[in-house]
Amino acid sequence: MATLQAVKGMNDILPGTGEVKRWQDLEAKFRRTCVLYGFDEVRTPLCEYIELFKRGVGEDTDIVEKEMYTFKDRGDRDLALRPEGTASAVRAAIEHNVVSPDNPVVRWCYLGPMFRAERPAKGRYRQFHQFGAEVYGDNSPAVDAEVIGLASSYLQSLGIEKFVIHVNSLGGPESRAAYREALVAYYSLFRQRLSPESLARLDRNPLRILDSKDPRDVELRDLAPKISDSLTDMDRSHFQRVCNLLRELGVHFVVNEGLVRGLDYYTSTVFEIIDTSNALGAQNALGGGGRYDRLFKELGGHNDQPAFGFALGVERLLLSVPQAAEETPPVRAVILTQRVDPHEDACTVALRLAKILRAAGIETIVDSRAQYSLKPRMRFAQNKLKATHALTIGGVELANNTVRVKRLGAGVHDATEVSFHSVIEYLRGIPTTGCSPDESGAP
Ligand code: AMP
Repeated sequence: MATLQAVKGMNDILPGTGEVKRWQDLEAKFRRTCVLYGFDEVRTPLCEYIELFKRGVGEDTDIVEKEMYTFKDRGDRDLALRPEGTASAVRAAIEHNVVSPDNPVVRWCYLGPMFRAERPAKGRYRQFHQFGAEVYGDNSPAVDAEVIGLASSYLQSLGIEKFVIHVNSLGGPESRAAYREALVAYYSLFRQRLSPESLARLDRNPLRILDSKDPRDVELRDLAPKISDSLTDMDRSHFQRVCNLLRELGVHFVVNEGLVRGLDYYTSTVFEIIDTSNALGAQNALGGGGRYDRLFKELGGHNDQPAFGFALGVERLLLSVPQAAEETPPVRAVILTQRVDPHEDACTVALRLAKILRAAGIETIVDSRAQYSLKPRMRFAQNKLKATHALTIGGVELANNTVRVKRLGAGVHDATEVSFHSVIEYLRGIPTTGCSPDESGAP
C-alpha cells in the first residue's frame, strides 16, 4: 500500500529540530508587540462562505480567480478555506457590531494558517501562516504610520535588520476613478500586446494589470501612468503626512509608485515589507498591508468604516530571522525505573516523584521501560529527550527513599544518591548535603 503523505505545499513542523521553538518564539514576540500597541487577538474560522472573499479580496484578483481552495459542504453551500485574514476579521467585526459609539476604535490582531493553491517554492506554500494586525475606526495618517511602525519594530525585535518598507498611495474613490480612466486610456493603445488575462481585466479592473507577472504586461508597465498624477489634494496630503510620520518614527521606507498590492480592497496608503538579505530568493515579500476604508461597506456594514492593517508571512520571517545563539537548556529530568520486584513499586515512586518535580516547575519525563538496560535509555534521554538529568530508581534507592541523580552530558559521569526531599534543590543546582538515607523522607 502506498505511504500516505502530506498535501503538496502543506508542511509538518516536527519537534526535535528546534523548529517548533522558533515558531513559538515568533508567536510570543508578535503577541507581546501587539499587547504593547494595544491590540487584542481575534480568532475566526478557517473557512468562510466564498462570497466573503469574492466581495472582499475581489473577483478579478489572482487569489480569488486561481488560488482559493473551494468546496461544497454537505448542505451544498459554497465554502473556501481562508486565503487571508482581513476579510474574515472585518466580517466578524460587522457581524458582532464591534465598532460602535461606545467602542469607536478597535485594534485586532490574529495568527494562523491561510490557504492558497500557489505553485510551491521556497517561501511559497499552499498552507502558510500569517500574523496580522488591523485597526478599525480611525482614518488618521497617524494610524497608518503607527501600524507600519508596529510591523517594523516587530521585525527588529526578531533581529531582522535587512528589510525595506515600500509605501505608496492608491488614493480614495475619486483618485481611483481618475487613475482607472488614465490606465484604460493607456492600455487600450496596446490591446494587442497585453496578455489575454490582462486584456480581460482591462475594462473590469485595470489596476490588476499592474500586478500581472506576465512578461508581456511587465514590459508595458514602465510607461503606464502613475497613480501619483491622479491623486486628489486630500489623498496626496494624507500620504505626505504618513511619510512624514514614518520619518519621525525612524522607519526605513521608500516610496514605490508601482506598488498596488494584489487585493482589491485597498485604498489610500499601501505598503509591502521587502527582505533585502537575499535569504528568501524570489519570494522576498515578508508582509504587506494598507488602508481599506471601503471594505466594511462592501461586506455589508451599514457605513464606511476607516480601517488599516497588514499581514506578515511567518514562514518567510523564519527564513529571514538570524539563527539565535544556543540558549542554556532548562533543567529537564528523566526518571528511569530499574528492574525491581515488583516493578510497580518503582513505577509508583517514579510517578509520585514526577508529580512533585513538575509542581516545582521542573520538566520531567518518566521512562518505565525497565526491561531495557540503562545505558541506551540514558543515551536516548540525553540525545532525544534533551534531558539534563537522569534520575534512576532501583532496589537500593527504593529501600533508602532516595534517587540516583546523574548529570547528563558535559562529561560528568558520576552519579549521586539524593534523598527525595532534597531532589528539587539538587536539580536546581543548590548545594545539598547529598545522600543521607536516614534523613530522607518518602515523596
Ligand atoms: P499578501 O497579503 O498576499 O501580500 O500576503 C502577505 C504576506 O503573506 C506576504 O508578504 C508573504 O510573506 C505571505 N504569503 C503570501 N502568500 C504566501 C504563500 N503562498 N506562502 C508563504 N507565504 C505567503
